[in-house]
Amino acid sequence: MEKELLIKSLSDIVGADHVVTEKAALQDAAKDYIGYRQFQRHSGNNMVNIGACVVRPQNTEQVVEVLKFLNENKVDITPRAGGSSVTKSIEPEEGGVIVDCSDMNGIIEVNETDMYVTAKSGTSLDWMEKQLNEMGYTAGHFPQSLPLASLGGLVATRSIGQFSTLYGGIEDLLLGLEAVMPDGEVIRIKNNPRRSVGPDLKHLFIGSEGMTGFITEVTMKIFKYRPENRWLKAYGANGMQTGLDFIRDFMQDGYRPAVVRLHDPVEVEHVIKLDAPANTALILLIAEGPKGVVEATAAGIEEIAAKYGLMDLGSKPVEHWFKTRNDVCHTYIDQPTYYNLGAVVDTCEISANWSVIGKIYNAVRERMIAEIDNLYLIGGHSSHSYVTGTNLYFEFAYIAKDHAPQAIEDEYFKVLSIIMEEVLRFGGSIAHHHGSGKYRTRWMPEEHGSSYPLMYKIKEALDPNGVMNKGVILVEK
Ligand SMILES: Cc1cc2nc3c(=O)[nH]c(=O)nc-3n(C[C@H](O)[C@H](O)[C@H](O)COP(=O)(O)OP(=O)(O)OC[C@H]3O[C@@H](n4cnc5c(N)ncnc54)[C@H](O)[C@@H]3O)c2cc1C
Repeated sequence: MEKELLIKSLSDIVGADHVVTEKAALQDAAKDYIGYRQFQRHSGNNMVNIGACVVRPQNTEQVVEVLKFLNENKVDITPRAGGSSVTKSIEPEEGGVIVDCSDMNGIIEVNETDMYVTAKSGTSLDWMEKQLNEMGYTAGHFPQSLPLASLGGLVATRSIGQFSTLYGGIEDLLLGLEAVMPDGEVIRIKNNPRRSVGPDLKHLFIGSEGMTGFITEVTMKIFKYRPENRWLKAYGANGMQTGLDFIRDFMQDGYRPAVVRLHDPVEVEHVIKLDAPANTALILLIAEGPKGVVEATAAGIEEIAAKYGLMDLGSKPVEHWFKTRNDVCHTYIDQPTYYNLGAVVDTCEISANWSVIGKIYNAVRERMIAEIDNLYLIGGHSSHSYVTGTNLYFEFAYIAKDHAPQAIEDEYFKVLSIIMEEVLRFGGSIAHHHGSGKYRTRWMPEEHGSSYPLMYKIKEALDPNGVMNKGVILVEK
């Protein structure tokens, strides 16, 4: 569609003030935090794809009209919320439109009897959590991107927070939602504690990365906020595998601290900078909830820790982590220390069962060290644990050999491939919580195996024109 007509038509729906067309603003809206794009920008080449415009609807009715118009004219739509994606998921197709829900924000209802909050999809999670805390509640959802992310994006990426071992991921917290389908149909999924009425349609949107519909309202559980009851404890373990075994043991015994983190010796030395004996892995735990439950959790875990001969490091390392845990949102992203060394840096989160997670950790590290001769760092941590397994959040950095934009991209994917290949070889999942975005898509067929064709059928049924966030999850046919 001709650009001027596109912009005029969208301005007629939302008002010209809510349609952005300046190049710098379009670049800003499309940019996310994926490592190689950041390094390209740092090297003076902003390679981000920009769309024709960003449109900022003010309410569900406007979303209906915007989507209907774009769908009828087969214009690509990239939904956007807080813009904290790390997977290129908000980078639009050339000529496409970013539909940004940031102007649709605010709490609609806090229900203190049924313990839920309903808010618009552009609501900042950080802001909402503060409102809930003042009322004595918490949403229990603390991704590191708390200061950046909004509800629509959190649902669409299947996000998870630092207190997930107690509260779960967004899939456990989300009760219902409202969304607009590409043809303008508004659908509502009601809030009930559990329903046995067919497949759970919420899951067409949780982790959809904007490829099915546009989320306009979200209803999440809330919990009593009791920070005064918290138990904080740090342990040192002799190596990563001892730490993994310890966590598996208490998880399978039935203990549920809210925060369960295990940083490998590389992160202990280079990221956390804790003065500890060589090969020390650091375990950080926080339990919260009713006093009696917290005390029982602490006592049970301390007993298991003794069995593993862990070093009791007290509460200080946890207090430090807690205070600084989201600083990266303000510092590391804007003033990247690695870039001064000429290093590309990124993280990559995966998951696997307990029986193979340690093998994946070792295999990735061994291959990185053997194959990437300009490697600067390969370390990682586990931060979300389950009865059956856990996640690993690899952190890698390497000195870029060539600063030309395509060379940066090629080298990045060579390094990333090692993680993807090793995870798939051991039967793990290549993405624990950031999503596929537009950079892990090439590995999705192998990730999903025989169930992958079903994903295309869902897409074809919900978005027959294929306008919703092309490039995420589905390999283009
Ligand atoms: C420093 C940092 C730390 C992070 N820590 C975590 C973490 O601890 N846990 C975690 O899970 N993630 C984390 N992330 C990744 C990211 O913040 C999360 O994935 C977050 O959920 C994205 O939310 P957002 O509002 O910023 O969404 P955006 O970045 O705007 O969008 C993300 C995706 O959601 C889609 N989307 C956005 N709005 C809508 C809508 N209204 N309807 C339909 N689709 C929509 C977009 O198209 C895109 O595919 C981190 C990112 C950064 C930069």
